[in-house]
Amino acid sequence: MKILITEEQIRAKVSKMARTISEKYRNRELLVLIVLKGAFVFAADLLRKLDGVDVRCDFIKASSYGLSTESSGMVKIELIPSLEIGGKDVLIVDDILDTGLTISEIKKWVEEKGARSCEVCVFLDKPERRKVPFEADYVGFKIPNHFVVGYGMDCGEKHRHYPFVAVLE
Ligand code: 5GP
Ligand code: MG
Repeated sequence: MKILITEEQIRAKVSKMARTISEKYRNRELLVLIVLKGAFVFAADLLRKLDGVDVRCDFIKASSYGLSTESSGMVKIELIPSLEIGGKDVLIVDDILDTGLTISEIKKWVEEKGARSCEVCVFLDKPERRKVPFEADYVGFKIPNHFVVGYGMDCGEKHRHYPFVAVLE
């Protein structure tokens, strides 16, 4: 296992992202939708650094389905947030933007529920892997096409608890 992003690098980056988001939403109400499971560690750090924002948070989970193990392109919302989305400013928080299929479906779903605005914040971005055009509004680190674990991200449900991001070798 090789460490790609250290705990210190993560801490500095997450603080910087939180400052940017706090400036944008200062004194406003913001509904944060955390994409399970992978985003839970990132979201916990990010939300605790938001300052002067009236935050509510809820969870959403999507899964791709179909015959192949590679992302099939069909995405189903598995866990629906219980808080009202209509009329709200929504920030979707996810661990990693890869093909873009999941997050673009989640964003479409949020917009269909009548959100007033919807932005996307991801900890990692692998732009080379994109199958649908998608740009997040806030990106922590852009990384090359490696499969990474740690800081919430798993391989067969293992490694989520690492405080750093690593590449399995
Ligand atoms: P996509 O953008 O392809 O629809 O899906 C992104 C999701 O796939 C992420 O939220 C994450 O759950 C998973 N994923 C993509 N790349 C990686 C990776 O390198 N490591 C891990 N653990 N999960 C990944
Ligand atoms: Mg995910």
